[in-house]
Amino acid sequence: MAARILIVEDEAPLTELLRYNLAAEGYEVETAMRGDEAEIRLKETPPDLVVLDWMLPGMSGIELCRRLRARTETERLPIIMLTARGEESERVRGLATGADDYIVKPFSVPELLARIRALLRRARPERVAAMLEAGDILLDRETKRVARSGREIHLGPTEFRLLEFLMQSPGRVFTRGQLLDGVWGRDVYIDERTVDVHVGRLRRALNRGRAPDPIRTVRGSGYSFDERFGRAS
Ligand code: CA
Repeated sequence: MAARILIVEDEAPLTELLRYNLAAEGYEVETAMRGDEAEIRLKETPPDLVVLDWMLPGMSGIELCRRLRARTETERLPIIMLTARGEESERVRGLATGADDYIVKPFSVPELLARIRALLRRARPERVAAMLEAGDILLDRETKRVARSGREIHLGPTEFRLLEFLMQSPGRVFTRGQLLDGVWGRDVYIDERTVDVHVGRLRRALNRGRAPDPIRTVRGSGYSFDERFGRAS
């Protein structure tokens, strides 16, 4: 069963962007534009996770967070707070109010997705698949092992995260910048060519002999995990 995520955000373009990306990852997505509206919704059917904007009409995100923590049914509900840059002290207050995590706008979507996944894995491990499978490749997120045609593939930690990141969204083309954000982390400043080096290593480890390459280089754009991999043969 897919995890349900409620997005509470009054900026419609951002809500749509998040809805699209979360749905593409297989989550069931609901949205609310106002804090008070979200509170009513949350009392009816609590989701598995809430992405909560700080500044909202009706009721602020921080007040809603405080109220959710005060109720038994939602006291442990995973909450990721969205804050604007420059609200440093506010962010600290956000966490003190009980949000599990926060992310500062403008943020990269892959980073938010990674935070959501991490939080869900902690809170609802049964809702996040431990195994990713495509064709003859099997990746186990728990044991950090990868196998191809039943044979173990030894990957460095960066190559593992890179493969995991790409396999999570088959067919989606990621730019080198997006891969740096999603795999290396947002505040790390590394040359984008580093991505090419690690993709090269990943390919060499994965594609022994004449095994087909599941990673697609998209000229001028970046890389993607071929969504047709394992289906054609
Ligand atoms: Ca807002």
